[in-house]
Amino acid sequence: MLIARNIPELRAAVAAARAAGKQVGLVPTMGCLHEGHLSLVDLSRAHAPFTVVSVFVNPTQFGPAEDFSSYPRAFDEDRRLCEGRGVDVLFAPGADFYAPGHSTWVTEETVSQGLCGEHRPGHFRGVATVVLKLLNACACDVATFGRKDLQQLAVIRRMARDLDLPVRILEAPTSREPDGLARSSRNRRLSPAERAAAAAIPRALLAARALARSGSRPRDAVLAAAHAVIAAEPGLRLQYLELASAGDLRPAALAEPGKSVLLVAAFAGATRLIDNLEV
Ligand code: AMP
Repeated sequence: MLIARNIPELRAAVAAARAAGKQVGLVPTMGCLHEGHLSLVDLSRAHAPFTVVSVFVNPTQFGPAEDFSSYPRAFDEDRRLCEGRGVDVLFAPGADFYAPGHSTWVTEETVSQGLCGEHRPGHFRGVATVVLKLLNACACDVATFGRKDLQQLAVIRRMARDLDLPVRILEAPTSREPDGLARSSRNRRLSPAERAAAAAIPRALLAARALARSGSRPRDAVLAAAHAVIAAEPGLRLQYLELASAGDLRPAALAEPGKSVLLVAAFAGATRLIDNLEV
């Protein structure tokens, strides 16, 4: 596995793969890899034999009061995991991935509104910009993202469509711990008590979905079922809980199987966790 530290090194490796007739897949990450990330690698490899994983903790998607400096980093472990999963190139640029005085941004204006977009101003501008930079640096045929970050996936799909990006976007299902908690790099910052409290997040989503599927589908009733589970867990502080249309992530009045999705953000201690579940 090659470790590319800058764009020329990455492009040389991708050019050699192309010359050998291989399609190229990119899996963008912020590192501190876990089995969820590696499931994206597997999906990418099933569609494109040459796989690039990027590891870059993107400063522009963090707000001033957020956890950029304390975001978990584990490069040696990331390298070992990628090597073990058949990754061809680990692209790990430095802070100079952004040119000095960088002043060009990608702003998606519809699906980035509400939910995380409301609570993390500027977050999706940073995400869309860095993903476009990574796609341009790699010139990949496919790029793979997780449904765990559903609004991010919607923003990227919209950007790819609106800006005619020559890339196929693949999506991977949410990878979960045995107790249902969505895998996340931030989970390793949880104390044992916070980790136990965090398990109420998927339980709340499942309770709401069970109610929706039993036929009681008005928004308020469905959300109340989830609220009850979260309220019973004093270790969680809810940021938002929403029922939305799966198509555009706008608030939905009814929970409809196959058409709506539940989305949640909550703090366990200082750690912000997100999750979502299709009804
Ligand atoms: P991150 O490193 O958190 O920026 O995530 C990099 C990519 O991995 C994104 O496309 C995420 O949606 C995806 N991802 C992170 N956690 C999971 C998970 N538990 N299941 C599926 N995909 C995930």
